[in-house]
Amino acid sequence: MAQNERLVIIGSGPAGYTAALYAARANLNPLLVEGLQPGGQLTITSEVENYPGFPEAILGPQLMELMRKQAERFGTRFEAGEITRVDLTRRPFQLWIDDRLIRAQAVIVATGASAKWLGIPSEKQYQGRGVSACATCDGFFFRGVEVAVVGGGDTAMEEANFLSKFATKVHVVHRRDDLRASKIMAERARKNPKIQLQLSSTVDEILGDGKAVTGVRLRSAKDGSTRELALRGVFMGIGHEPNTRIFRGQLEMNDVGYVVVKSPTTLTSVPGVFAAGDVSDPSYRQAVTAAGSGCQAAIDAERFLGEHSTETWD
Ligand code: FAD
Ligand code: NAP
Repeated sequence: MAQNERLVIIGSGPAGYTAALYAARANLNPLLVEGLQPGGQLTITSEVENYPGFPEAILGPQLMELMRKQAERFGTRFEAGEITRVDLTRRPFQLWIDDRLIRAQAVIVATGASAKWLGIPSEKQYQGRGVSACATCDGFFFRGVEVAVVGGGDTAMEEANFLSKFATKVHVVHRRDDLRASKIMAERARKNPKIQLQLSSTVDEILGDGKAVTGVRLRSAKDGSTRELALRGVFMGIGHEPNTRIFRGQLEMNDVGYVVVKSPTTLTSVPGVFAAGDVSDPSYRQAVTAAGSGCQAAIDAERFLGEHSTETWD
């Protein structure tokens, strides 16, 4: 027997919780499906210093708990589990948590994006203790020390330029001898006296004293030789992956899988399906922008449901 819902929100990051808060206050009685990472990406970080309203900073998990409580206060219902399959070809839309079917008149997709990681054990060991995938978030903690950015694309160049405002030196470690970044971004990095390119090099190991990062061991892609750099931070800039696998072929996406929205709205290619947060945002990827677009998605969904009020379940 299918569970029938007016509005289902997929994802429990800042976008999902904010959409839920607004939708609940608009009497849409939303159901939020949390996914495998309740609270989203901020639950794996420590201090968040740039979310407005917290002048003394707030711990990521604590911020997400507060957002959850605020959404709950107005009647949001939460469902543990992951949406494993969707059929968005007609309304009501069909969503499955494994074998369990949920039907929805409107859907907000807030499944976020995940940073790509190298996949070496030391990277995991020092995550949050010198290893990061977000220079905008964590760069401030690396004042007056040396850091490295891994990657040769625009993200890596942008992160390196940003970090050069704080760090004494930024090593850009790229596996080939040719940068992938656009000409203008690559040129900007090359001209920055604080940035040193470490080309044709891969990260063999992130070195540490058990508590924090103390350096990296690089391997030459040309002759296999290794060398060590003493530094305090390693930033991954090797790309992000939007969590959109289950929507492939059903929602319009750009060439790297971000859901395309009709900017400045959150409308997707399917009427009644809205997208908010990192899942549809290749350029900002911040908690506050995710929350902002979650608010927009709830308002867009409210307008849509107001205009398509007949609820048929056949
Ligand atoms: P996410 O937070 O990624 O949440 C996605 C949600 O979708 C998760 O709950 C997940 O379980 C759920 N989900 C995914 N797939 C499914 C599915 N199939 N079914 C159901 N649910 C699903 N930003 C800042 O502004 N300041 C910071 O200081 C900061 N620090 C950061 C530190 C780290 C280490 C990282 C990784 C990111 C940081 N960011 C920071 C970025 C910020 O976390 C993201 O921009 C923000 O979390 C995006 O919110 P979101 O709601 O779009 O998605
Ligand atoms: P990207 O262009 O795919 O570049 C990823 C980089 O990481 C590449 O240099 C790649 O090396 C390297 N890499 C990938 N996996 C790796 C691994 N396992 N080990 C070591 N290196 C690895 O990704 P992006 O830089 O995030 O950019 C994504 C898109 O966003 C691009 O279209 C970009 O132009 C855009 N963007 C624009 C701006 C801007 O204009 N301000 C800023 C950020 C991003 P190879 O080169 O060898 O493949």
